[in-house]
Amino acid sequence: MTAPDDPRREELRAALEQVETRLSAACAAAGRPREAVALLAVTKTWPLRDVELLAGLGLHRFGENRDREAADKARALPGVEWHFVGQLQTNKAASVASYADVVHALDRPSLAEALAKGATRAGRTVDVLLQVRLDDDPGRGGAAPDQVPALADLAASLPGLRLAGVMAVAPPEEDPAAAFARLARVAEAVRADHPAATAVSAGMSGDLEQAVAVGATIVRIGTALLGRRSPPAR
Ligand SMILES: *Cc1c(COP(=O)(O)O)cnc(C)c1O
Repeated sequence: MTAPDDPRREELRAALEQVETRLSAACAAAGRPREAVALLAVTKTWPLRDVELLAGLGLHRFGENRDREAADKARALPGVEWHFVGQLQTNKAASVASYADVVHALDRPSLAEALAKGATRAGRTVDVLLQVRLDDDPGRGGAAPDQVPALADLAASLPGLRLAGVMAVAPPEEDPAAAFARLARVAEAVRADHPAATAVSAGMSGDLEQAVAVGATIVRIGTALLGRRSPPAR
């Protein structure tokens, strides 16, 4: 299907090699095995063809942040893991629960209930990560750290959901190392109550090293793999 000298494939191959080099170095610096950190390719806004090319290069986890786009891609490319990484409206939860393997942005009880209902209706189990807010700006989504234990208990108790761990985005105005260190403490508290909730989704193109240094198990990489996204047309 793809000629070996396809220019986009070559571009993605080279970018993946660079990201792999950074990840390996970050793991080595932290004394962690490379296999301890999963690479999630954030393919939002990029065409399905890019996802197929990345799958051909060996990636099998893809992240999206719009329900419609994610649903279309997941339908077109089954057999890989689909992660929903964006802020999620409650009225889209049932749809997302019908195709997503992992939802990274569970930040409130109403969303937990809606995801559980959708997953149950679809006969599926969805892994959920609790999004933790690392600053005082509620506009960016995420549960405040002191709300996380109760949300963890709720998610763990609902049918159709599996509490997998925590997720965060570093606040833009702060040193990501300090922010991710706070996330690591929240993650530890969640694990104390829910030992199977071991996932820590942290680190993007600009700060994957700082995230891996404090225990990230999933890094979410868009720009460094696929290039700069054009501004969304909405
Ligand atoms: C878009 C997005 C990413 C990827 O960010 P890059 O800086 O392009 O690597 C990661 N996480 C979330 C939640 C995103 O929305």
